[in-house]
Amino acid sequence: MLEVKDLEVAYGDVRALWGVSIHVEAGTVVAIVGANGAGKTTLMRAISGLLKPKRGEILLSGASLLNRAPEEIAGMGIAHVPEGRGLFRQMTVLENLELGAFQPKARARMKQSLEKAYALFPRLKERAGQKAGSLSGGEQQMLAIARATMSEPSLLILDEPSIGLSPLVVQQMFKLIEELHRQGVTILLVEQNIHQALKIADHAFVLKTGEIAMQGTGAELIADPEVQKAYMGVL
Ligand code: ATP
Repeated sequence: MLEVKDLEVAYGDVRALWGVSIHVEAGTVVAIVGANGAGKTTLMRAISGLLKPKRGEILLSGASLLNRAPEEIAGMGIAHVPEGRGLFRQMTVLENLELGAFQPKARARMKQSLEKAYALFPRLKERAGQKAGSLSGGEQQMLAIARATMSEPSLLILDEPSIGLSPLVVQQMFKLIEELHRQGVTILLVEQNIHQALKIADHAFVLKTGEIAMQGTGAELIADPEVQKAYMGVL
């Protein structure tokens, strides 16, 4: 479904990604893991059209995403939940959700997608009239994900959904991601919570200083002594 080939992205003279290639099959969860500053966010932003690559190709179901505006890429079926969530704090939960369905096609299906989001995230229904900024951290992250599902995306990009959440809420978050996967959403997940991410990933790529250092199924990478040593604190 998504293919990134030989991607190079730089901030001025500083190269952040060097010849990165990844692929995401429809219906799977793919994790991108790696240390701070490895280039994970840069890769997600390039896919959503927020950064312009220097070289390489990004294809969604065969169509190039290069030279397209972020809105156009969103309209092609990619929804991106950025690190930091990007919510409108002064607006209500419902208003934030409605904004997720800003594309004409999604707007026409607003009622159904809202029902679906509330079924998956009942807490948000209870708090529909409350300001987004007044929600707990976990609820805000759920709202950000729910808002992204309002466009009924074919690919959902989640950048560090578990960051800053308590262990219990992190568990709930991963359960929700698995539920979305069961419902057929393809998910590209960036995580520093490497063990959890690999547990739910069909396939994963390890990004190290701007390059793909390893890849494999989630189970393969969890079992890999090098991954355990470098990223999971195993001595
Ligand atoms: P984190 O988990 O800390 O967000 P990351 O793996 O997502 O890390 P990126 O944020 O993609 O990493 O950063 C990759 C590299 O690019 C880092 O060396 C970072 O310092 C650099 N970088 C990121 N954003 C910018 C920017 N706006 N200007 C210059 N350099 C940047």
